[in-house]
Amino acid sequence: MGKPTGFLEIERKLAPKRAVSERVNDYKEIEQLNSIAETEAQASRCMDCGTPFCHNGCPLGNIIPEFNDAVYEQNWKYAYDILSTTNNFPEFTGRICPAPCESACVLGINKPAVAIELIEKSIIEKAYSEGWVVPFIPKKRTGKKIAVIGSGPAGLAAAAQLNKAGHLVTVYERADQIGGLLRYGIPDFKLDKSVVTRRVEVMKQEGITFITNANIGTTEKLANLTNDFDAVLVATGSTTPRFITAKGNDAIGIYPAMEFLSQQNKRNASIALEVNHKGEKYANTDIHAKGKHVVVIGGGDTGSDCVGTSNRHKAASITQIEVMPKPPVARAENTPWPNWPNMLRTSTSHDEGAERLWSISLQEFIKNDKGELESLLIGDIVYNMKDGKMEQEVMNIRKIPCDLALIAAGFLHTDHTGLFDQLTAMGVNADERGNLAANASYQSDNEKVFIAGDARRGQSLVVWAISEGREAARNIDLFLMGKTSLEGKSISS
Ligand code: FAD
Repeated sequence: MGKPTGFLEIERKLAPKRAVSERVNDYKEIEQLNSIAETEAQASRCMDCGTPFCHNGCPLGNIIPEFNDAVYEQNWKYAYDILSTTNNFPEFTGRICPAPCESACVLGINKPAVAIELIEKSIIEKAYSEGWVVPFIPKKRTGKKIAVIGSGPAGLAAAAQLNKAGHLVTVYERADQIGGLLRYGIPDFKLDKSVVTRRVEVMKQEGITFITNANIGTTEKLANLTNDFDAVLVATGSTTPRFITAKGNDAIGIYPAMEFLSQQNKRNASIALEVNHKGEKYANTDIHAKGKHVVVIGGGDTGSDCVGTSNRHKAASITQIEVMPKPPVARAENTPWPNWPNMLRTSTSHDEGAERLWSISLQEFIKNDKGELESLLIGDIVYNMKDGKMEQEVMNIRKIPCDLALIAAGFLHTDHTGLFDQLTAMGVNADERGNLAANASYQSDNEKVFIAGDARRGQSLVVWAISEGREAARNIDLFLMGKTSLEGKSISS
């Protein structure tokens, strides 16, 4: 630890955000960087505590105290070398990770945690600008070929690791662009798509082949891949949205959040609105919030992204409703630890304006005589303990205006069409939640087929997808070669 008193002298300082009045007029990234000197000062707040819980709090096992120290010592190249041993894509996690490492930071017991996520982003952006991020071209090829289905963070991380081990990797993606939810889903104001393209270009130079518009199970049979490749990794995400069964749910003006969000990603990239993020023809190519009374149904990340996008569309009003009660706004009083994820999370989108309602029961979608959505009937859920059991009562039933409802109520499991049937026919099973089942080595019941990311663990986080991709790659290497030199991180999921 370079500066033992850093945490006593220096306050946590996050990077500036662009002003709300400016940023709601475009889709450029909101969060910026601190200066190099400020970042070095932030890194000195790390106490290098005996047991760095941050290291374990990170699903990738990032070696955080060491890279903090290197940054403080102005040895940025070394910081990059440390960070890139555990994380293939710090430019993604440094922008959009909810940073479980910070919730685990020991300094967080009585002071704001070290700004780890920001330091991570600063390291990788400096690495790109200094030309340290160079393609890793393996000296020797093993002669083994691996197909990766899905190009989200799990598939990309696995591809990078498998290529590093000397295998020839082909990534198949059903959408017209590479990146999974990083590309189509997460808004540009959180993650500019040039950041995804920049990484994919490096991976192409490393020798990885990318094939888009390839919907395995539909445009190409899975059997072709299992015959032609030594192993297949399925990293297809968890993209089946949960629907709302309330009366009137066939009204015109109700859309899944992903249709709305992916259309804006495409507009920003000047890509014609023909096929959606799944490569399927859009049923409606003009889902736009301008002048609409928008209600976002669901209080999570996807819902927040709909709020931010609706603000940029200049909606007449935006309300976000959530069935769960409002979480506490501060840490629980009886524990010194920050209690994320049970703490109220606000995103930059909420700073831009929206009404958030908690404990809400959606009773009915009300439509006009043309079948168009006009308003919602909602009520407050009151939770009562009765005979030791929690009971719900819905009170204060009322109408709120709504001519655009965006369903952001979560995702059930990986898609159960096309590929799924061919996987099950090959002996790959689903678990009780409908995700694809794999053992602790990420191997399915068909020994040639491995599973990683949201397709295995259900809807999760980018950092977990990268972690799963890396672990699956290590296990595939072990399966094919009998040994592996790929770095591993054992952490319970
Ligand atoms: P995905 O990113 O879903 O990628 C799977 C890919 O497989 C897709 O490109 C899909 O088209 C492709 N595919 C599927 N089937 C086939 C097939 N048959 N053939 C070929 N290709 C196929 N996490 C965070 O950490 N921070 C955030 O801020 C955040 N925001 C989010 C916002 C939204 C709107 C959503 C929906 C999710 C968000 N998440 C966030 C979650 C995060 O994006 C996911 O957990 C992560 O992307 C999962 O990675 P994955 O690689 O497993 O799957």
